[in-house]
Amino acid sequence: MGFNAFSGASGQDFSDLLKNTRGYAGAADASRAAAEFPAESLDAITGPERRWSWVEIDLSAIRHNVAVAKRRLSPGCRLMAVVKANAYGHGAVQVAKTAISAGAAQLAVATVNEGVQLRRAGIEAPILVLSEPPASAIPLLLHHNLMPSVYTVEFAVAYGEIADLHGVRAPFHLAVNTGMNRIGVRFDEAVEFLRQIAFHRALEQVGTFTHFATADCAETLDFNIQLRRFKETVEAIRAAGIDPGLAHCANSAAILRYPETHMDMARLGISLYGFHPCPETRGYFDLHPAMSVHARITAVNTPPMSEGVSYGMNYRSTGSVKICAVPVGYADGYVRALSGRTSIIYAGHRCRQVGNICMDQCMFEVDLRSHGTYRRLDPHVGDEVLLVGSQNGAAVTIEDLCDLLDTIPHELCCGFSARMPKVYLR
Ligand SMILES: *Cc1c(COP(=O)(O)O)cnc(C)c1O
Repeated sequence: MGFNAFSGASGQDFSDLLKNTRGYAGAADASRAAAEFPAESLDAITGPERRWSWVEIDLSAIRHNVAVAKRRLSPGCRLMAVVKANAYGHGAVQVAKTAISAGAAQLAVATVNEGVQLRRAGIEAPILVLSEPPASAIPLLLHHNLMPSVYTVEFAVAYGEIADLHGVRAPFHLAVNTGMNRIGVRFDEAVEFLRQIAFHRALEQVGTFTHFATADCAETLDFNIQLRRFKETVEAIRAAGIDPGLAHCANSAAILRYPETHMDMARLGISLYGFHPCPETRGYFDLHPAMSVHARITAVNTPPMSEGVSYGMNYRSTGSVKICAVPVGYADGYVRALSGRTSIIYAGHRCRQVGNICMDQCMFEVDLRSHGTYRRLDPHVGDEVLLVGSQNGAAVTIEDLCDLLDTIPHELCCGFSARMPKVYLR
C-alpha cells in the first residue's frame, strides 16, 4: 500500500496532526505520568495505523484527467484547475502540484485561506479566488499574490488603494453575472462598472469570467442565453477600449460538452477528480475517479437469528450471517441516509451494509451460506474492505452513492475527507 504522504481535516496538513502527539502531564490526571516514547516513533505511526479507515487518492488519475481535458480544449485555451474545498476533498496541495505538473496553467480556490495554504506549500502558479473576499482580507491577497474576483466598487477601490500604498499592482478578474444570479456585476452593467473603477492606476484587469448554472443540464436554452450574454459583454468591454484580460466561462460540463465556451481559459473542477458532470458525457470521455475509501474490519459478530444490529435495530439477523464492524461513520462522510441501502466490498464481493450507520462506525453482513460458485467468505478482524472503489469487478462508486442520495459527487467527496486521513498513490 504505497502511501507516502498524509493530509487531513479542512485543508490542514495532516502531518501536523501526526506530530507532537506525545503524552502530556495532563491536568485531568496529574497522578499518572505520561509514558515516554521517542517523538519520532510516535510520529511514525501513520493515519491508517491510528484508525483503520482512510481515503486513497490516486494522483495518476488526476494526471490522466488533466490530459483528457487538455485534449478536449480548443488550441490556445489555458486550463485552470479548480482546487477549492481542499480540492473537493482530495487534498489541495497534492492535487494542485499534480495538476500543474500535468499541464494546468492556473489554479482556482474559493477562499483566501485556501490560497494562502497553496502559497505556503511553495506553489507559484497564478491563483484566482472565485469570489470577492471582505476588504479586510486585502493585505493577505497582496502579500500572497492571490487574484480576487471583483464585483463591487467598494472592494475594487480599497484593493487598488492598498496596492498603491505598497507600490504593487492589484490584479483581478471581473466576475460577470450572466444569469445564474449568484455573484458578479450584471452583464449589462459591466462596462459602466469598469469605467467607475478605471481611475485607479494600481488596478489591473487580468481576467473576465462568468459561471454557468445549467451547463450540465439537458435543457440548453438558459445555457445559451448565458453564453451569448458573456460573449457580448467581453466584446462590449473591448469596444469600450478596456482590456478584459483572459476571458473564461467553462466549468467541467462546458469543457466536455461545448467547445465554443473554451475562449482563453477553462475551469476544470469535478472532472479533474474523475467524475462526469452529467450523464451526457459518459461514454465519450474516459475519466478515472481518483478517490477510494478503505477500512479494516474491527469486529466480527455472529448474532443469533432475529437479533438486531445497530441503533434502532431496523435490521435483524437471519442467523446465518456474520456482522462485521468498520470504523467509518457519518462523521467521516458516510452519509447516514445510506443506511441499509449500499454495499461494502469484502474479498471482491459486494456485501450488504446493514443497520443504521453510526457517527464513527458502521456494520455490514457477510452471508455464511455458500452461494453460486463463490467460495464461502470468512471475515476476520484486520481484513481490508472498500466502501468506495472496485475490486475483482465488484464496484461501489461515488456516483452510485449519489444516485441513492440524490446529490452530486462534489458533496460526497468533500465529506469523505473531513476526518479520514488521505493516502496518496503516485
Ligand atoms: C466550482 C466552480 C467551478 C468548477 O465547477 P465544476 O462543475 O466542478 O467543474 C468553476 N467555476 C466556478 C466559478 C466555480 O465556483
